[in-house]
Amino acid sequence: MSRRPIVGGNWKTNPEKVADLESKIANINACDTTNCDVYVCPSPLHMGLVYDKFTKGAKVTPQNCNFKGCGAYTGEMAADQFASMGIEWCLIGHSERRGEFGLPTPAESSDLLATKLAYLLEKGIKCVLAIGEPLPVREKGVEAVLAFCIEQLKPCLPHLDAAKVVIAYEPVWSIGTGVTATPAQAQETHKAIRDWIAKEKSAECAAAIRIQYGGSANAKNAPELSACPDIDGFLVGGASLKPEFAEIVAAIAKAKMPLSAQFEAVYKKSGLVPHPTIKGALATPATVLTRRFDEQYKKSGLVAHPTIKGAFVVSDAAWRDASPAGSAMAAVRASRPGSAKPEKA
Ligand code: PEP
Repeated sequence: MSRRPIVGGNWKTNPEKVADLESKIANINACDTTNCDVYVCPSPLHMGLVYDKFTKGAKVTPQNCNFKGCGAYTGEMAADQFASMGIEWCLIGHSERRGEFGLPTPAESSDLLATKLAYLLEKGIKCVLAIGEPLPVREKGVEAVLAFCIEQLKPCLPHLDAAKVVIAYEPVWSIGTGVTATPAQAQETHKAIRDWIAKEKSAECAAAIRIQYGGSANAKNAPELSACPDIDGFLVGGASLKPEFAEIVAAIAKAKMPLSAQFEAVYKKSGLVPHPTIKGALATPATVLTRRFDEQYKKSGLVAHPTIKGAFVVSDAAWRDASPAGSAMAAVRASRPGSAKPEKA
């Protein structure tokens, strides 16, 4: 099954200055969204300044949400507020909200996140649900990794809907560290998550749900990660604040382009046209053929046959230049008194 790729930019609590927002917005607006969904998570403080500034279809996606709605919830954002700002997506479960801040703030539990997910979906908001293991778990091997991710996913299982939920698998040891999971590690984990969803939810949901990779993704490693069959996109932190974000989007769009679109792209570049008589075949266009013929004709030194229509003969000049006999005869002719000078090519 082909899944449309999706790439998100998580700006976290960046940039520092309002004046820098313009260039950050430009990085997102530089993305070609023809073959890839794009979303961006501005900092909560900047949300109101930027939510209507994305011109290429990038979806503004808050980094968090409450599960109670509007009212006396100091410091919170409510899904109920999203609708009037045209906000369709929300990110929840980022490891920095699950207790990886390195700050003594309360961690969000998997049960709380399941409550938020259910609430968001009920309000018609689609959801990016982040999961991922810390380094000590990764060091125990893929089975421990899967068990850890399952613990995070299990309470959300009843709400998994491929049309409305995207999973972002983000190994904690790879976030913001410059250490990227190898394509083999990422693919193995994505596949294990997908297989678990197939077993516990349904084969249809597993085949259709998009699983993003997150953790020091950048323009350099995106092509190789994009080639992995179970990686459907990226959740990008640091690189989403840089112009290279558009390259990450381009890399996965290219890797996951449906076959017919790939054919279209090659076809457009080729300059070929449908064959005039053979159905389904392609041919060099007549203009190219004529141009090629003209070039060859000019180089050949041939001239139109004086009497036989459509035929060509070697011109005097070409014959003279190409053969010793021709130049000898031309010299003899030229030396005869009263003869014209030999024709120049
Ligand atoms: C993230 O914040 O979700 C993330 C993946 O960050 P980075 O790309 O900087 O590792």
